[in-house]
Amino acid sequence: HRVRLADTGPNVFTEMSERAARHGAVNLGQGFPDTPGPEPVVASAIAALRAGHHQYPPVPGLPELRRAVADHQRTWYGIDLDPAREVVVTTGASEALAAALLALTGPGDEVVVLEPYYDAYAACVALAGAALVPVRLDPPGFTLDPAALRRAVTPRTKVLLVNSPHNPTGTVLPPAVLREVAELARAHDLLVVSDEVYEHLVYEGPPHQPLAALPGMAERTLTIGSAGKTFSFTGWKVGWATGPRDLVEPVTAVKQYLSFASGTPFQHAVADALRLPAGHFTGLRDSLRRRRDLLAAGLEAAGLRAHTPRGTYFVTADIRPLGERDGLEFCRALPARCGVAAIPHQVFHTDPEPGRPFVRFTFCKQEAVLEEAVRRLATLS
Ligand code: PMP
Ligand code: GLN
Repeated sequence: HRVRLADTGPNVFTEMSERAARHGAVNLGQGFPDTPGPEPVVASAIAALRAGHHQYPPVPGLPELRRAVADHQRTWYGIDLDPAREVVVTTGASEALAAALLALTGPGDEVVVLEPYYDAYAACVALAGAALVPVRLDPPGFTLDPAALRRAVTPRTKVLLVNSPHNPTGTVLPPAVLREVAELARAHDLLVVSDEVYEHLVYEGPPHQPLAALPGMAERTLTIGSAGKTFSFTGWKVGWATGPRDLVEPVTAVKQYLSFASGTPFQHAVADALRLPAGHFTGLRDSLRRRRDLLAAGLEAAGLRAHTPRGTYFVTADIRPLGERDGLEFCRALPARCGVAAIPHQVFHTDPEPGRPFVRFTFCKQEAVLEEAVRRLATLS
Protein backbone atom coordinates (compact mmCIF):
# COMPACT_ATOMS: atom_id res chain seq x y z
CA HIS A 1 0.00 0.00 0.00
CA ARG A 2 1.20 3.48 -0.79
CA VAL A 3 1.14 5.65 2.29
CA ARG A 4 3.12 8.78 3.01
CA LEU A 5 5.31 7.03 5.55
CA ALA A 6 8.80 5.73 4.90
CA ASP A 7 8.34 2.88 7.36
CA THR A 8 4.94 1.34 7.99
CA GLY A 9 6.06 -1.43 10.35
CA PRO A 10 5.46 -1.41 14.12
CA ASN A 11 7.37 1.47 15.70
CA VAL A 12 10.31 1.21 18.06
CA PHE A 13 8.15 1.34 21.20
CA THR A 14 6.08 -1.63 20.07
CA GLU A 15 9.15 -3.59 18.98
CA MET A 16 11.07 -3.07 22.21
CA SER A 17 8.02 -3.70 24.44
CA GLU A 18 7.45 -6.99 22.60
CA ARG A 19 11.10 -8.00 23.07
CA ALA A 20 10.83 -7.06 26.76
CA ALA A 21 7.73 -9.24 27.20
CA ARG A 22 9.28 -12.17 25.33
CA HIS A 23 12.35 -12.23 27.60
CA GLY A 24 10.69 -11.22 30.86
CA ALA A 25 12.80 -8.06 30.83
CA VAL A 26 12.35 -4.97 32.99
CA ASN A 27 10.85 -2.61 30.41
CA LEU A 28 12.63 0.74 30.63
CA GLY A 29 11.84 1.36 26.94
CA GLN A 30 8.37 2.75 26.29
CA GLY A 31 7.64 5.57 28.75
CA PHE A 32 4.63 4.59 30.87
CA PRO A 33 4.39 4.62 34.68
CA ASP A 34 3.94 1.31 36.52
CA THR A 35 1.79 2.90 39.22
CA PRO A 36 -1.61 4.53 38.59
CA GLY A 37 -2.30 8.24 38.80
CA PRO A 38 -4.09 9.86 41.79
CA GLU A 39 -6.89 7.76 43.32
CA PRO A 40 -9.41 10.69 43.42
CA VAL A 41 -9.03 10.97 39.64
CA VAL A 42 -9.73 7.26 39.19
CA ALA A 43 -12.79 7.79 41.41
CA SER A 44 -13.90 10.66 39.13
CA ALA A 45 -13.69 8.42 36.07
CA ILE A 46 -15.75 5.72 37.80
CA ALA A 47 -18.28 8.33 38.97
CA ALA A 48 -18.55 9.68 35.40
CA LEU A 49 -19.32 6.17 34.14
CA ARG A 50 -21.86 5.57 36.93
CA ALA A 51 -23.48 8.94 36.18
CA GLY A 52 -24.16 7.67 32.66
CA HIS A 53 -21.71 9.81 30.67
CA HIS A 54 -21.47 7.28 27.86
CA GLN A 55 -22.27 9.25 24.70
CA TYR A 56 -20.34 11.61 22.41
CA PRO A 57 -19.06 14.77 24.01
CA PRO A 58 -18.82 18.00 21.95
CA VAL A 59 -16.10 17.79 19.24
CA PRO A 60 -13.77 20.33 20.93
CA GLY A 61 -14.17 18.64 24.33
CA LEU A 62 -16.39 18.92 27.41
CA PRO A 63 -16.81 22.57 28.40
CA GLU A 64 -15.71 21.77 31.98
CA LEU A 65 -12.47 20.19 30.74
CA ARG A 66 -11.76 23.12 28.42
CA ARG A 67 -12.33 25.46 31.38
CA ALA A 68 -9.99 23.34 33.53
CA VAL A 69 -7.27 23.43 30.86
CA ALA A 70 -7.60 27.22 30.59
CA ASP A 71 -7.53 27.61 34.39
CA HIS A 72 -4.44 25.39 34.60
CA GLN A 73 -2.63 27.58 32.06
CA ARG A 74 -3.58 30.72 34.03
CA THR A 75 -2.67 29.28 37.45
CA TRP A 76 0.70 27.89 36.45
CA TYR A 77 1.85 30.29 33.72
CA GLY A 78 -0.35 33.39 33.78
CA ILE A 79 -1.65 32.59 30.27
CA ASP A 80 -5.21 33.78 29.57
CA LEU A 81 -7.32 31.59 27.29
CA ASP A 82 -10.95 31.68 26.24
CA PRO A 83 -12.01 28.09 26.99
CA ALA A 84 -14.74 28.23 24.34
CA ARG A 85 -12.45 29.14 21.45
CA GLU A 86 -8.83 28.70 22.46
CA VAL A 87 -8.82 25.14 23.82
CA VAL A 88 -9.44 21.85 22.00
CA VAL A 89 -9.40 18.45 23.72
CA THR A 90 -7.74 15.66 21.75
CA THR A 91 -7.19 11.90 21.91
CA GLY A 92 -3.82 12.25 23.61
CA ALA A 93 -1.15 14.72 22.61
CA SER A 94 -0.66 12.39 19.64
CA GLU A 95 -3.89 13.51 18.01
CA ALA A 96 -3.16 17.15 18.81
CA LEU A 97 0.17 16.81 16.97
CA ALA A 98 -1.38 15.04 14.00
CA ALA A 99 -4.27 17.49 13.70
CA ALA A 100 -1.92 20.47 14.09
CA LEU A 101 0.50 19.33 11.41
CA LEU A 102 -2.28 18.28 9.02
CA ALA A 103 -4.14 21.56 9.59
CA LEU A 104 -1.20 23.94 9.45
CA THR A 105 1.28 22.39 6.99
CA GLY A 106 1.27 20.81 3.56
CA PRO A 107 3.36 20.24 0.44
CA GLY A 108 6.00 22.95 0.02
CA ASP A 109 6.14 23.74 3.76
CA GLU A 110 9.09 22.99 6.01
CA VAL A 111 8.75 22.03 9.67
CA VAL A 112 11.81 22.56 11.83
CA VAL A 113 12.24 20.01 14.64
CA LEU A 114 14.84 19.36 17.31
CA GLU A 115 16.76 16.15 16.58
CA PRO A 116 16.54 13.49 17.97
CA TYR A 117 12.77 13.96 17.59
CA TYR A 118 9.76 12.05 18.92
CA ASP A 119 8.89 9.63 16.10
CA ALA A 120 5.34 10.92 15.59
CA TYR A 121 6.72 14.29 14.41
CA ALA A 122 8.38 12.80 11.34
CA ALA A 123 5.37 10.57 10.63
CA CYS A 124 2.82 13.38 10.90
CA VAL A 125 4.93 15.78 8.83
CA ALA A 126 5.14 13.04 6.18
CA LEU A 127 1.36 12.45 6.34
CA ALA A 128 0.84 16.17 5.81
CA GLY A 129 3.14 16.07 2.77
CA ALA A 130 5.45 18.69 4.30
CA ALA A 131 9.23 18.43 4.75
CA LEU A 132 11.04 17.79 8.04
CA VAL A 133 14.10 19.93 8.80
CA PRO A 134 16.01 18.57 11.81
CA VAL A 135 18.26 20.70 14.03
CA ARG A 136 20.61 18.65 16.15
CA LEU A 137 20.78 18.88 19.94
CA ASP A 138 24.50 18.58 20.63
CA PRO A 139 25.82 15.81 22.90
CA PRO A 140 26.99 15.27 25.56
CA GLY A 141 24.53 17.74 27.15
CA PHE A 142 22.04 17.73 24.20
CA THR A 143 21.99 21.52 24.12
CA LEU A 144 20.45 23.63 21.35
CA ASP A 145 22.71 26.08 19.56
CA PRO A 146 20.33 28.93 18.57
CA ALA A 147 22.61 29.70 15.59
CA ALA A 148 21.92 26.20 14.22
CA LEU A 149 18.20 26.83 14.61
CA ARG A 150 18.52 30.15 12.75
CA ARG A 151 20.40 28.43 9.91
CA ALA A 152 17.58 25.89 9.51
CA VAL A 153 14.97 28.57 8.75
CA THR A 154 14.28 29.18 5.04
CA PRO A 155 11.55 31.07 3.15
CA ARG A 156 9.62 27.76 3.14
CA THR A 157 9.64 27.33 6.91
CA LYS A 158 6.07 27.27 8.19
CA VAL A 159 6.33 25.81 11.68
CA LEU A 160 8.92 25.53 14.43
CA LEU A 161 7.97 22.34 16.25
CA VAL A 162 9.56 22.73 19.67
CA ASN A 163 9.57 20.15 22.46
CA SER A 164 10.79 21.20 25.90
CA PRO A 165 11.18 19.29 28.19
CA HIS A 166 12.46 17.16 25.33
CA ASN A 167 11.89 13.50 24.51
CA PRO A 168 14.25 11.56 24.28
CA THR A 169 17.12 13.70 25.66
CA GLY A 170 15.45 15.28 28.71
CA THR A 171 16.73 18.70 27.69
CA VAL A 172 14.85 21.68 29.12
CA LEU A 173 15.58 24.71 26.94
CA PRO A 174 16.93 27.49 29.16
CA PRO A 175 15.12 30.86 29.24
CA ALA A 176 17.75 32.58 27.06
CA VAL A 177 17.35 29.93 24.34
CA LEU A 178 13.55 30.12 24.54
CA ARG A 179 13.83 33.88 24.03
CA GLU A 180 15.94 33.28 20.90
CA VAL A 181 13.39 30.76 19.57
CA ALA A 182 10.66 33.36 20.11
CA GLU A 183 12.70 36.09 18.46
CA LEU A 184 13.29 33.87 15.42
CA ALA A 185 9.58 33.01 15.16
CA ARG A 186 8.62 36.68 15.36
CA ALA A 187 11.29 37.82 12.89
CA HIS A 188 10.22 35.27 10.23
CA ASP A 189 6.53 35.28 11.12
CA LEU A 190 6.55 31.54 11.88
CA LEU A 191 4.00 29.42 13.65
CA VAL A 192 5.21 27.49 16.69
CA VAL A 193 3.83 24.14 17.76
CA SER A 194 5.10 23.69 21.30
CA ASP A 195 4.87 20.13 22.62
CA GLU A 196 4.91 20.66 26.39
CA VAL A 197 3.62 17.26 27.52
CA TYR A 198 6.43 17.01 30.12
CA GLU A 199 5.71 20.52 31.50
CA HIS A 200 5.47 19.31 35.11
CA LEU A 201 8.59 17.12 34.98
CA VAL A 202 11.40 19.63 35.49
CA TYR A 203 13.77 18.69 38.29
CA GLU A 204 16.05 21.67 38.78
CA GLY A 205 16.98 25.07 37.41
CA PRO A 206 14.38 27.51 36.11
CA PRO A 207 10.85 26.05 36.05
CA HIS A 208 9.05 25.20 32.82
CA GLN A 209 8.33 28.25 30.72
CA PRO A 210 5.71 27.93 27.95
CA LEU A 211 6.77 29.60 24.69
CA ALA A 212 3.25 31.03 24.45
CA ALA A 213 3.96 33.20 27.50
CA LEU A 214 6.81 35.09 25.80
CA PRO A 215 6.17 38.49 24.16
CA GLY A 216 4.56 38.25 20.71
CA MET A 217 4.17 34.47 20.99
CA ALA A 218 0.56 33.99 22.19
CA GLU A 219 -0.76 34.84 18.72
CA ARG A 220 1.48 32.36 16.87
CA THR A 221 1.86 29.41 19.26
CA LEU A 222 -0.16 26.23 19.59
CA THR A 223 0.70 24.54 22.90
CA ILE A 224 0.16 20.82 23.43
CA GLY A 225 -0.40 19.06 26.76
CA SER A 226 -1.32 15.53 27.93
CA ALA A 227 -2.98 13.93 30.94
CA GLY A 228 -0.91 10.85 30.17
CA LYS A 229 2.29 12.51 31.37
CA THR A 230 0.96 14.93 33.98
CA PHE A 231 -1.26 12.40 35.79
CA SER A 232 0.28 9.03 34.88
CA PHE A 233 -2.74 7.93 32.85
CA THR A 234 -1.05 7.24 29.50
CA GLY A 235 -3.77 4.75 28.50
CA TRP A 236 -6.58 7.27 28.91
CA LYS A 237 -5.41 9.19 25.84
CA VAL A 238 -6.62 12.63 26.85
CA GLY A 239 -4.61 15.59 25.58
CA TRP A 240 -5.26 19.14 24.46
CA ALA A 241 -4.06 21.99 22.31
CA THR A 242 -4.35 25.63 23.27
CA GLY A 243 -3.67 28.87 21.45
CA PRO A 244 -5.28 31.62 19.41
CA ARG A 245 -8.62 30.98 17.77
CA ASP A 246 -7.17 31.07 14.24
CA LEU A 247 -4.92 28.10 15.12
CA VAL A 248 -7.30 26.16 17.38
CA GLU A 249 -10.18 26.33 14.85
CA PRO A 250 -8.35 24.57 11.99
CA VAL A 251 -6.93 22.00 14.42
CA THR A 252 -10.48 21.31 15.65
CA ALA A 253 -11.72 21.05 12.06
CA VAL A 254 -9.14 18.33 11.33
CA LYS A 255 -9.70 16.61 14.68
CA GLN A 256 -13.39 16.18 13.86
CA TYR A 257 -12.37 13.92 10.95
CA LEU A 258 -9.67 12.03 12.86
CA SER A 259 -11.47 10.96 16.05
CA PHE A 260 -14.52 13.32 15.93
CA ALA A 261 -14.41 13.51 19.73
CA SER A 262 -12.46 11.97 22.63
CA GLY A 263 -13.70 9.64 25.42
CA THR A 264 -16.36 11.32 27.58
CA PRO A 265 -15.82 9.72 31.04
CA PHE A 266 -12.06 10.36 31.00
CA GLN A 267 -12.66 14.00 30.10
CA HIS A 268 -14.75 14.42 33.27
CA ALA A 269 -11.96 12.87 35.32
CA VAL A 270 -9.16 14.90 33.74
CA ALA A 271 -11.11 18.12 34.41
CA ASP A 272 -10.96 17.16 38.10
CA ALA A 273 -7.30 16.15 37.83
CA LEU A 274 -6.25 19.55 36.48
CA ARG A 275 -7.74 21.12 39.61
CA LEU A 276 -5.70 18.97 42.00
CA PRO A 277 -3.65 20.93 44.54
CA ALA A 278 -0.11 21.91 43.51
CA GLY A 279 1.20 19.15 45.80
CA HIS A 280 0.17 16.51 43.28
CA PHE A 281 2.32 18.04 40.56
CA THR A 282 5.34 18.72 42.77
CA GLY A 283 5.00 15.36 44.55
CA LEU A 284 5.19 13.44 41.26
CA ARG A 285 8.18 15.54 40.21
CA ASP A 286 10.04 15.03 43.50
CA SER A 287 9.50 11.30 43.48
CA LEU A 288 10.67 11.09 39.86
CA ARG A 289 13.79 13.14 40.68
CA ARG A 290 14.85 10.48 43.21
CA ARG A 291 14.24 7.74 40.69
CA ARG A 292 16.18 9.65 38.03
CA ASP A 293 19.19 9.82 40.33
CA LEU A 294 18.90 6.13 41.20
CA LEU A 295 18.83 5.08 37.54
CA ALA A 296 21.60 7.47 36.42
CA ALA A 297 23.89 6.20 39.19
CA GLY A 298 23.06 2.59 38.30
CA LEU A 299 23.84 3.14 34.62
CA GLU A 300 27.19 4.69 35.54
CA ALA A 301 27.96 1.80 37.87
CA ALA A 302 27.14 -0.59 35.02
CA GLY A 303 29.80 1.07 32.89
CA LEU A 304 27.65 3.31 30.69
CA ARG A 305 28.02 7.09 30.58
CA ALA A 306 24.73 8.56 31.84
CA HIS A 307 23.39 11.99 30.99
CA THR A 308 21.26 13.17 33.93
CA PRO A 309 18.44 15.20 32.38
CA ARG A 310 16.80 18.33 33.81
CA GLY A 311 13.39 17.18 32.62
CA THR A 312 11.12 14.33 31.36
CA TYR A 313 11.40 10.77 32.68
CA PHE A 314 14.22 9.60 30.44
CA VAL A 315 17.95 9.17 31.10
CA THR A 316 20.18 8.90 28.03
CA ALA A 317 23.24 6.64 28.23
CA ASP A 318 26.28 6.56 25.96
CA ILE A 319 27.08 2.89 25.30
CA ARG A 320 30.61 3.42 23.93
CA PRO A 321 32.36 2.85 27.28
CA LEU A 322 30.99 -0.73 27.07
CA GLY A 323 32.70 -1.14 23.69
CA GLU A 324 29.32 -0.91 21.94
CA ARG A 325 28.74 1.31 18.93
CA ASP A 326 25.20 0.72 17.66
CA GLY A 327 22.27 1.57 19.94
CA LEU A 328 19.66 -0.22 17.84
CA GLU A 329 21.61 -3.49 17.85
CA PHE A 330 22.36 -3.01 21.55
CA CYS A 331 18.67 -2.46 22.39
CA ARG A 332 17.54 -5.40 20.27
CA ALA A 333 19.93 -7.68 22.15
CA LEU A 334 19.55 -6.20 25.64
CA PRO A 335 16.36 -8.02 26.79
CA ALA A 336 17.91 -11.44 26.07
CA ARG A 337 21.38 -10.40 27.24
CA CYS A 338 20.52 -9.00 30.65
CA GLY A 339 16.74 -8.71 31.02
CA VAL A 340 16.30 -4.97 30.50
CA ALA A 341 14.69 -3.06 27.59
CA ALA A 342 15.59 0.45 26.35
CA ILE A 343 15.05 2.67 23.29
CA PRO A 344 17.83 3.64 20.84
CA HIS A 345 18.14 7.33 19.90
CA GLN A 346 19.06 6.66 16.28
CA VAL A 347 15.45 5.89 15.28
CA PHE A 348 14.68 9.52 16.18
CA HIS A 349 17.25 10.82 13.69
CA THR A 350 16.95 11.44 9.94
CA ASP A 351 20.59 10.41 9.56
CA PRO A 352 21.00 7.73 12.26
CA GLU A 353 24.78 8.12 12.53
CA PRO A 354 25.04 10.76 15.28
CA GLY A 355 22.39 8.97 17.34
CA ARG A 356 24.06 5.55 17.26
CA PRO A 357 25.90 5.67 20.60
CA PHE A 358 22.88 6.81 22.63
CA VAL A 359 20.18 4.81 24.34
CA ARG A 360 17.20 6.06 26.36
CA PHE A 361 16.06 4.44 29.63
CA THR A 362 12.87 5.56 31.37
CA PHE A 363 12.72 6.00 35.14
CA CYS A 364 8.91 6.28 35.53
CA LYS A 365 8.97 2.92 37.37
CA GLN A 366 8.87 1.96 41.05
CA GLU A 367 12.19 2.21 42.87
CA ALA A 368 12.32 -1.56 43.43
CA VAL A 369 11.86 -2.10 39.68
CA LEU A 370 14.65 0.35 38.87
CA GLU A 371 16.89 -1.33 41.45
CA GLU A 372 16.27 -4.69 39.80
CA ALA A 373 17.06 -3.19 36.38
CA VAL A 374 20.29 -1.72 37.75
CA ARG A 375 21.31 -5.11 39.20
CA ARG A 376 20.71 -6.72 35.82
CA LEU A 377 22.58 -4.00 33.93
CA ALA A 378 25.57 -4.50 36.25
CA THR A 379 26.14 -7.89 34.54
CA LEU A 380 26.91 -6.12 31.24
CA SER A 381 30.51 -5.12 31.89
N1 PMP B 1 4.86 14.17 22.56
C1 PMP B 1 5.88 13.65 23.24
C2 PMP B 1 7.17 14.38 23.29
C3 PMP B 1 5.72 12.41 23.89
O1 PMP B 1 6.75 11.88 24.54
C4 PMP B 1 4.49 11.75 23.82
C5 PMP B 1 4.26 10.43 24.51
N2 PMP B 1 5.23 9.48 24.27
C6 PMP B 1 3.46 12.33 23.08
C7 PMP B 1 3.67 13.54 22.47
C8 PMP B 1 2.13 11.65 22.91
O2 PMP B 1 1.37 11.81 24.05
P1 PMP B 1 -0.02 11.04 24.28
O3 PMP B 1 0.32 9.74 24.90
O4 PMP B 1 -0.79 11.96 25.17
O5 PMP B 1 -0.67 10.88 22.94
N1 GLN C 1 5.80 8.88 24.82
C1 GLN C 1 6.20 7.56 25.23
C2 GLN C 1 7.68 7.34 24.97
O1 GLN C 1 8.33 8.16 24.36
C3 GLN C 1 5.37 6.50 24.53
C4 GLN C 1 5.50 6.52 23.06
C5 GLN C 1 4.65 5.51 22.35
O2 GLN C 1 4.40 4.43 22.86
N2 GLN C 1 4.24 5.85 21.17
O3 GLN C 1 8.17 6.35 25.43
